[in-house]
Amino acid sequence: MSNPFFEEWQTPYGIPPFDRIDDQHFEPAFDQGFEVQLEEINTITANPDSPTFANTVEALEASGSLLDKVAGVFFNLASSDTNPDRQALEMTVSEKWSNHTSDLYGNDALFTRIEHLYKARTTLDLAPDQLRLLTDMYQNFVRGGASLGSREKAEVRKLNAQLAQLETQFSQNILKDTNDFELILDREQLIGLPESVQAAAATEAEARGHSGGFAFTISRSSITPFLQFSEDRELRQHMYEAYTRCGDNDNEANNRGVLGEIAGLRQQRATLMGFETHADFMLDDRMAANPGNVHQLLDQIWTPAQQKVQQEAKDLQDQIQQAGQNFKLAPHDWWYYTEKLRAQRFDLSDNDIKPFFELSRVRDGAFEVARQLFGISFSRINDLALYHPDVEAYAVTDADGSEIGLFLADYFSRSSKRGGAWMSEFRGQALNIRPIIVNCCNFAKSEPCLLNLDEVSTLFHEFGHGLHGLMSQVRYASQAGTNVKQDFVELPSQIMEHWALEPEVLRSYARHIETGEIITDELIAKILQAQTFNQGFMTTEYLAASYLDLAWHQGVGDPPINVDTVEQQAMDHIGLIATVAPRYKSTYFQHIFSGDDYSAGYYAYIWAEVLDADGFEAFKENGIFDPATAKAFRENILERGGSDDPMALYRAFRGRDPEVDALLRNRGLVNSTEAA
Ligand SMILES: [Zn+2]
Repeated sequence: MSNPFFEEWQTPYGIPPFDRIDDQHFEPAFDQGFEVQLEEINTITANPDSPTFANTVEALEASGSLLDKVAGVFFNLASSDTNPDRQALEMTVSEKWSNHTSDLYGNDALFTRIEHLYKARTTLDLAPDQLRLLTDMYQNFVRGGASLGSREKAEVRKLNAQLAQLETQFSQNILKDTNDFELILDREQLIGLPESVQAAAATEAEARGHSGGFAFTISRSSITPFLQFSEDRELRQHMYEAYTRCGDNDNEANNRGVLGEIAGLRQQRATLMGFETHADFMLDDRMAANPGNVHQLLDQIWTPAQQKVQQEAKDLQDQIQQAGQNFKLAPHDWWYYTEKLRAQRFDLSDNDIKPFFELSRVRDGAFEVARQLFGISFSRINDLALYHPDVEAYAVTDADGSEIGLFLADYFSRSSKRGGAWMSEFRGQALNIRPIIVNCCNFAKSEPCLLNLDEVSTLFHEFGHGLHGLMSQVRYASQAGTNVKQDFVELPSQIMEHWALEPEVLRSYARHIETGEIITDELIAKILQAQTFNQGFMTTEYLAASYLDLAWHQGVGDPPINVDTVEQQAMDHIGLIATVAPRYKSTYFQHIFSGDDYSAGYYAYIWAEVLDADGFEAFKENGIFDPATAKAFRENILERGGSDDPMALYRAFRGRDPEVDALLRNRGLVNSTEAA
């Protein structure tokens, strides 16, 4: 049987030949990929010459290309366009992948060579990126268990394989619950909902076989406007409860047991690796270095956020009273009364805003920001075979016309796509290989597709990750683009959000969907004034989730673990007010339970926000499109990936260490007298 993964791809931009790839091609390609890399490793260890950087480190770095080729396609499709076959294979592959990785790190002959080089590293005359590659490789082996005894190694191997399966299961359970829930309404039940929301609900109903009805789901782009605008409090509560019960229903997709087991196994692994807790183990490989540093930053923001959120809760209670009602503010009321208060205080509602933010205009606005900053341009390519009809492809070229890479935009929500928004790669950059990057979002599909400001930020955010991947200029694939310390990765994404709402930028892309009128200065002023509105809530729900993440990973005892108890204790400890819930509850907290990367790492958004807020001030000081500042950002951050220490890269860009003040000001968490 011919299998496209065993061929050279003679396609434009070397894009995977999606029209020829069939689900049955994946498994044989993975199996072959594992085998080929094992042979490549055998060649390294069988080499009678003593280890050198080239014959060991570079050789290992270059191995596994077939595996990368198939994984790049498969794991993207498993996230953005899955089906039962792909889900089944995802379970199988995640276990095989985990065992393959354990075998790699457990290979004593290979580790001996790497360790030998690592110990002699200062005498090897290595370039800085090579020294970093060797150091990271050595540490990855140690973190993978390479220096453990054989009994412990076998245990870590078993734990990793179990974890890989459970984490995949966790994700699949959430997708199942998300797809299973729907609220189908008649036109009379839509009171309060804006037309664009009704249109999206009609499209969703159509897709779900309820023509003529209006379907609402617990995907964020569907539930958020519902909670903001529906006049029906009972229905709002019904939706909110469905959302917070995701992964926690009385069905086979319940995640309570799964996540308890994940937390327990992670703790066991950390103990074997010589760390007190999983959080200590994960943070050892991050900028933050240890949980104490994370708590210190979170606490610093938590205190002012609490003052703000308590005032906000009081204001919302007043709104309820003013509306002639007498109930106590509940978590599911927050969005609705916030919207009322926003309209009252700023004469501003999402209804006024959304017509100016049609998806394709926002996307082009992001492209234009990149052009003005870096001179790069995006041009649509229509004749490529892609993996789903909703996906668009753009060729990205540099100011001098040279090829930067291929950018895929996959913006709409669908039942085959997991929730949230992310950037990923079908192929990463290395030396002369240019990357293929994808941005996935979950915007409710409708014609036209109008975004709220959160969604506008999300689009710019993922686009920032996209630029990190696209503009990478490193020698080694494992250092390219977003392959950086996990609490550094959100800097390029979050800094890009700042441009979205700059008046000069808004005037370039925000045009009314019907009249074509450019957004008025008056509306811009209102939007900016309202920026710190509701930030007590936004900050609190985010921080609460970050504390919850740490609670799960700083020792929860042995299974069986009671999920409610862990959540309750964590929230009691920080004194979370009863009218706010953490942004994610445990059973649908995908960041921390569907993979290791963001576990004990949800804090990374605010950690990186210290950097992005401080970094954007450099642009504010010099001009938001100042060529020299943009060049410094490009050359020191975007092009450098993980080829150097993140703090060294940041200092090279900014000329000094980051300061937390800009973050507190942006979120309105300092007294107004102190704010500049
Ligand atoms: Zn991000």
